[in-house]
Amino acid sequence: MKIQRALISVSDKTGLVDFARAIAEMGIEIISTGGTAKLLQKEGIPTTEISAYTGFPEMMDGRVKTLHPKVHGGLLHLRDNPEHVAQCEAHGIKPIDLVVVNLYPFEETIAKPDVTLDEAIENIDIGGPSMLRSAAKNYRSVTVITDPNDYNDVLDVMRRNDGETTLQLRERLAIKVFVTTSRYDGAISDFLNKEKECASSFSLSLPLVAQLRYGENPHQTAALYGHFDEQFEKLHGKELSYNNILDITAASELIEEFEEPTVAILKHTNPCGVGSDADLREAWDKAFATDKQAPFGGIIICNRPLTEPLARAISEIFSEVIIAPDFEPDARALLQKKKNLRLMRKRVRPAPKNPDEDNLIRSVAGGVLVQSRDVEPEIDLMEKAVTERKPTKADLAAMLFAWRVVKHVKSNAIVYAAKDRTLGIGAGQMSRVDASRIAIWKAADAGLSLKGCAVGSDAFFPFPDGLIAAAEAGATSAIQPGGSVKDAEVIAAANERKMTMICTGVRHFKH
Ligand code: 5GP
Repeated sequence: MKIQRALISVSDKTGLVDFARAIAEMGIEIISTGGTAKLLQKEGIPTTEISAYTGFPEMMDGRVKTLHPKVHGGLLHLRDNPEHVAQCEAHGIKPIDLVVVNLYPFEETIAKPDVTLDEAIENIDIGGPSMLRSAAKNYRSVTVITDPNDYNDVLDVMRRNDGETTLQLRERLAIKVFVTTSRYDGAISDFLNKEKECASSFSLSLPLVAQLRYGENPHQTAALYGHFDEQFEKLHGKELSYNNILDITAASELIEEFEEPTVAILKHTNPCGVGSDADLREAWDKAFATDKQAPFGGIIICNRPLTEPLARAISEIFSEVIIAPDFEPDARALLQKKKNLRLMRKRVRPAPKNPDEDNLIRSVAGGVLVQSRDVEPEIDLMEKAVTERKPTKADLAAMLFAWRVVKHVKSNAIVYAAKDRTLGIGAGQMSRVDASRIAIWKAADAGLSLKGCAVGSDAFFPFPDGLIAAAEAGATSAIQPGGSVKDAEVIAAANERKMTMICTGVRHFKH
């Protein structure tokens, strides 16, 4: 059925005027609430105020505007039920076929540092979600828009269908409503629960971004939810896989550690090599030199616009994904010659829309574990030096490099590094000594010297053996959290070998 009447009541007025003008030109009657009506009238778009339609004034500071049977009856009655239609006629209820509502900005309000409880409560929208839910329940007949990003889609469909929308579109929009209202209510309950630090129940409603071809393995189904596409834009290449998305996330978190121009290569979420240099191509050489074998089929990321010389170097090996804040035109042209290679533009990470979105979530038996991100508190590393020999500037630079990388390596993790590059990475071992052995062996295999380097460990050395092995391999400085019952022995071993060591007091397990 052709849409005849629309009810518009929005807080976020983005794009509204154009949309309302377009539907008014299609002959649709518009009913709207106070602020919305004012805007539309100012723009010369014919609008009936809600109070004129319901015969009731908006009241109680806007707490009651649209909560009226003439609104909800107009939305909820079944168009093909003669009794419903007769009841509408008897009570002067007119069918409302289109609802455009977005809600009071509750999440934005509570994000303000000085928000009061009264202000938050006033920003709990009541009439808006009610209309959205009424309209969405009756999606077989009613079209409901709650996201300004959908205005154009709806107009397109209406133009193609002589003023009607399709059932498929109405269903999609209705699902979006229930995702939106459940998230909205989740934000309210979490806010009211805030003094408990953790929400009493966990809820996170995220929109579907994409159905994936398969999961970690081809026999597993998978889908991506949330706002991944706000952070990464695919410029070229095949559809992203489940594993690509995991790797892109790991790569992005790693590169965010570095302010100086840096290139990192990752595989299965672990770094294979990381290098920094004012010249990106040089940074690549440093990263790639750590391990020339593992990067095959890996992920490459840099934190400056990707240059043509770097593109040329990269294109010599097979990679799955390349991520950069941007690509210089020559570089992009060169890399795009590879049909399957995915090129991703990384945007600045937007502030989370909901505090839960900033948390890390893992599946466990019967539920999920939720934790905040591994953000390192500000520490003065020099103050944390525990050995007789205090770190020189050069020691400190190498230690810091190792420390930044080791945080992003699966535990148990050991990283050997110079001031601007990794030299050996040992990832995901069940014993720390084995992680160290692997890192040393890999450095030797790559023909790299560990003489005078730093060793970084994601968690404490439980015994002196790991540190002694590192010293014997050539490390002259070590950075680790400390906190082992055997710390005194570990520090003594470092002193005996004239090593300098920092115990950060911060652990970076990554299981
Ligand atoms: P306006 O700017 O048009 O005055 O108000 C628009 C906002 O009012 C929308 O966000 C809409 O969800 C909300 N709204 C509409 N009807 C009611 C109601 O009856 N009660 C409350 N609390 N909010 C409403």
